[in-house]
Amino acid sequence: MAETIKPKAGIMDIALYVSGESHVDGHTEVLKLSANENPYGCSDKAKAAFLRTAQTLNRYPGTDHRALRAAIGEVHGLDPDRLICGVGSDEVLQFIVQAYAGEGDEIITTQHGFSMYPILAKMVGATPVTVGEDERVIDVDAILAAVTTRTRVVFLANPANPTGTMVERGEMERLAAGLPRSVLLVHDGAYAEFVENFDGGAALVDAYPNVIMTRTFSKIYGLGGLRVGWGYASREIIDVLTRLRQPFNLSEIQMATAEAAVRDRDFVERCRTENAKWREWLRNALVQMGVGCDASHANFVLARFENPQEAEACNAALRADGIIVRPVKSYGLPQALRITVGDESACRRVIHVIATFKGIR
Ligand SMILES: *Cc1c(COP(=O)(O)O)cnc(C)c1O
Repeated sequence: MAETIKPKAGIMDIALYVSGESHVDGHTEVLKLSANENPYGCSDKAKAAFLRTAQTLNRYPGTDHRALRAAIGEVHGLDPDRLICGVGSDEVLQFIVQAYAGEGDEIITTQHGFSMYPILAKMVGATPVTVGEDERVIDVDAILAAVTTRTRVVFLANPANPTGTMVERGEMERLAAGLPRSVLLVHDGAYAEFVENFDGGAALVDAYPNVIMTRTFSKIYGLGGLRVGWGYASREIIDVLTRLRQPFNLSEIQMATAEAAVRDRDFVERCRTENAKWREWLRNALVQMGVGCDASHANFVLARFENPQEAEACNAALRADGIIVRPVKSYGLPQALRITVGDESACRRVIHVIATFKGIR
């Protein structure tokens, strides 16, 4: 009898994450607006730190991330002892499901929520439960109504991806207050820095013991290729998550580069300002052409067309011009395209192609 190696139940049900495309056949120079990357690159100080630390590759990195946590704590006004750093915020999200959920447990995500959340739930054998949104905005009452005795974790991003919408402070308070203390609320702040004067959920973490905030260096810091993210929660939660973290999960290169990036506040400020300016320009241009577009709080806009066919045709027109945006059919938005806010010339080029497609120019 032939025996074969079989994975644990459910593993083969995990759909692979699909990242933003970066190639179009027949184009050598594409304009990639599909992965919410920073069009201005990253801080020069981060690059210098990266090159400097290349000299230390023969050495194992430190295990406690002390300098990086201290820098994040200093810049964001947070207690470094309540921070954990991971290989992207994705790794921190993974520690969360590993620590708090398993077979038979439920993890709540929302209708157009980030596609990593159900993947993470399934990784630990938990059941993702998807809750409806209200016109592409997270619906606090719907989440609260979906909580059962099996619920362990609620995942939401604020601002959200791919909708770009935000839940206001009072609503987040109501959600945190309404959840049982045994349910962990994950406030994914991947796009928090694009919102002026927003703490990314830090105050909520301080007010509720069952809230964790995650952040990333992949978006406004322009370091998606570096793979560094972090989380902020109570000492108890950080202690739990740290036990799941591999001691050498981050290299000295990653830590030193991220540290230089977080300390370069001027770079972040410039990116925030430019992004806001061109995001509004992009949205206005779309709306004027009759393309639906909610106010976005992130570094992308969600362009909503008449129907899925029009979205597909517009995507084809953009690709023919060497522009890659993100179709979001898999997010339950087949009539929409998510477009990263590029620099001025990128925004003008996108709008020119869409206008031509719409027969406006
Ligand atoms: C981009 C993104 C992240 C960041 O992932 P990293 O692993 O830090 O690169 C997390 N959450 C959301 C909603 C995102 O869009």
